[in-house]
Amino acid sequence: MMNTQEIYDALGLTDADVKGGDLKVYSPTDGSEIAAVKTDSVEETKSKIAQSVTAFKAWRKVPAPRRGELVRILGNILREKKEALGALVTLECGKIYQEGLGEVQEMIDICDYAVGQSRMLHGLTIVSERPLHKMREIWQPLGPVGIISAFNFPVAVWSWNAALALVCGNSTIWKSSEKSPVTALACQKLFELACAEFGDDAPKGLSQTLTGDRDIGEALVASESVALISATGSSAMGRIVGANVAKRFGKSILELGGNNAITVSKHADLDLAFQGIVFGTVGTCGQRCTTTRRLFVHDDVYDALIPRIKKAFAGVSIGNPLDEGTLMGPLIDEDSFNNMQKALELAKSNGGVVTGGGRAIQEEYPNAYYVNAALVEMKGEVNNVKTETFAPILYVFKYTDLDDAIFRQNDVPQGLSSAIFTTNILEAEIFTSEVGSDCGIANVNIGTSGAEIGGAFGGEKETGGGRESGSDAWRGYMRRMTSTVNYSTELPLAQGIKFDTE
Ligand code: NAD
Repeated sequence: MMNTQEIYDALGLTDADVKGGDLKVYSPTDGSEIAAVKTDSVEETKSKIAQSVTAFKAWRKVPAPRRGELVRILGNILREKKEALGALVTLECGKIYQEGLGEVQEMIDICDYAVGQSRMLHGLTIVSERPLHKMREIWQPLGPVGIISAFNFPVAVWSWNAALALVCGNSTIWKSSEKSPVTALACQKLFELACAEFGDDAPKGLSQTLTGDRDIGEALVASESVALISATGSSAMGRIVGANVAKRFGKSILELGGNNAITVSKHADLDLAFQGIVFGTVGTCGQRCTTTRRLFVHDDVYDALIPRIKKAFAGVSIGNPLDEGTLMGPLIDEDSFNNMQKALELAKSNGGVVTGGGRAIQEEYPNAYYVNAALVEMKGEVNNVKTETFAPILYVFKYTDLDDAIFRQNDVPQGLSSAIFTTNILEAEIFTSEVGSDCGIANVNIGTSGAEIGGAFGGEKETGGGRESGSDAWRGYMRRMTSTVNYSTELPLAQGIKFDTE
């Protein structure tokens, strides 16, 4: 495994990038300082936005398939740098190396997808009600796209947005999480390498990064020059950002918190369910937006499943996420650990029986926050949990009637991901029907986390309603223009209106 300096060297990060700055970055793996990066001021933010506007005006004129060529080159560079960038993701945000690599693979996948999309920015042709007229829908570049990202997917979220935004003819400006700025600087280096290979068609400032706290995010959100804000993070953040963008009639894509549930039917293949639940809970140490947080288990299979999950949680290998064999790395920081403990205390006071959930390997890593995954059997009155705690806590509930399980699954403010394990086709179809799950993602015999880029990603209610990645998400990065052309010598009005000017 590469050490920190080797990772920086491989990604082209110099001392000027990672030393001497005012924002100190600590690795959640051991609490050590790995960088001190320079933050942007609000004034610098404004000047980067102005640069982004200039870049957009040039880039929108480059033919879309040629724009795709830049994204193709970026995808190839990501293939070459996959190990180094994956290791940096692990170092800076603490997910295990396999997941760090997976995150970079997701970037490569969306680049491939966007390259294909660059030749498919199709609009409709529509018949006109008037003689010798035709109507068409034309998709136009939108403008500078502001990307705000969370710490837990420090690079993939940028690429989901940037790859599509770029082929659609937009410039991008990325405010990374203050907890993971180094991965953003690394992506910018790789983007600049791609531009150098691509040539002069890529204007200066086509993609830029902003480093800093929420005030920098606020300046980006407030700017009328930024046509679209795509913001990923907590629902609390989205509530503010969404309202502020709406105030200036900007567009937004909001990808916010989740409170995801798996339902395990009496007809489930319990081996599959077991695997899906354990990965969904402990993956990224419970810090995925799609992490499995609630489990509804049919009475008849409760005793066969729950002890097995408890055993797996107790046995999962916790350790430095850079070490091979580790399945669970640390929480991002002390605040996260404290929030987890508070949630467990609350569950106990509501009659929940908690197994696990304490601090782990503290002697080895006194300045990092490793934990055991917690399983909480909810007893008594409480039959649901409605808030997202960004930590590996699985709340378990019994059910007897599927309609009741679906009702309780949906009876939360968030609506991101959901899943049912069943081999009964009727149950599976009900779950994915109009009276089933109300989430943006509803899986059958697959857990809640680990989406592919081909589908549209996002969720309903307090998850924000935004969609990114595959399907027709590209349309969110473009401006829809309806154009009617008259090729007659008359000027008939729509709806047959008579308006005689002579
Ligand atoms: P966070 O909301 O604390 O921060 C996210 C980003 O928003 C950061 O870059 C932050 O600086 C910025 N920000 C905060 N307030 C802002 C404001 N008022 N104006 C502009 N920018 C502002 O989130 P986090 O702790 O980094 O990430 C965890 C959260 O993100 C969880 O809730 C998780 O579910 C969610 N998440 C959602 C998705 C999704 O696709 N739905 C993906 C990843 C993470």
